[in-house]
Amino acid sequence: VPRRLRDVGEHEWINLLSRRLGGRSVAGVLIGPGDDAAVVRIGGAVALLTTDTLVEGVHFRDGWLAPAALGRRAFRVNASDIAAMGGRPISALVALEVQPTMAVNRLDAIMRGFVSDARRHGVALVGGNVTRGPHFAITVSMTGIASARVVRRRGARAGDQVFVTGSLGAMGLAVRGRLAGRRTELPTVPYRVDAAVALAAVASAMIDVSDGLVQDLGHVCRASRVAARIEAGRVPVAPACRRALGAGAAAFAATAGEDYELCFTVPPRRLPALDRLRRRLRCRVTRIGTIEAGRPIVRMVDARGRPLVLRHRGFDHLRAR
Ligand SMILES: [Mg+2]
Repeated sequence: VPRRLRDVGEHEWINLLSRRLGGRSVAGVLIGPGDDAAVVRIGGAVALLTTDTLVEGVHFRDGWLAPAALGRRAFRVNASDIAAMGGRPISALVALEVQPTMAVNRLDAIMRGFVSDARRHGVALVGGNVTRGPHFAITVSMTGIASARVVRRRGARAGDQVFVTGSLGAMGLAVRGRLAGRRTELPTVPYRVDAAVALAAVASAMIDVSDGLVQDLGHVCRASRVAARIEAGRVPVAPACRRALGAGAAAFAATAGEDYELCFTVPPRRLPALDRLRRRLRCRVTRIGTIEAGRPIVRMVDARGRPLVLRHRGFDHLRAR
């Protein structure tokens, strides 16, 4: 029986491909696969490149999101990967997979949602592609400009403090509600680009929380060859999630995905600089734990320091459901 993708898993398959691509350096490629975005030198500028897809039936189901909200979401999840490198998006390409029976109005509204949010944030839609397919899917390829410092996943060191922007768990809770047949409103993906550009001055490592905090911080730990300890009581749980889940809310919020907040680490010597930045960030920033030496594992502990057992660590596209 041939080995199937679901036996390997999304992240392991990507790791295998990255290893095959190897460290062969091509002129102009500053950072290849393995971070939130690639970094390439184009002329005199340092550009960030990323791509992400939303698929109907996988990332959302028909009727979960108003068309404009779906377009905005496609824009923001890609901007989030540029932000995670400390950069600012400038242009996007959109590849659409559509059924010929789709209502023109709906597709127009999706693209209006995309373009108006992109414009508002100084990002131009500069091209794309349309193809027929069995489901609606929207793939965005985004280009960004790097800040003075590109923040990678690999810069965390033992003793660094771990922070997260905003709050976690609202999207996970909303998806759970929808799957249970409730008409829960899906929250808007936050736009953290300004915060990320400011944080690039102090962060030693950064990632956006797309698949769940524990799993995404795990990527930072593997890239940095360190461990992380998260204090469950410090996780900024979204109020709706806290109300609905009570004592289990922190573990849920730390493993539910799609919050698109930033998780980043700051060395002790830069903590005063982070405090000076806080007012400019326009979002909450919460210290949730510490980077430690050791195997690249994320442990979540309760108020007495006892490890919590997590039923799952986050989302894997090829293993899920
Ligand atoms: Mg990411």
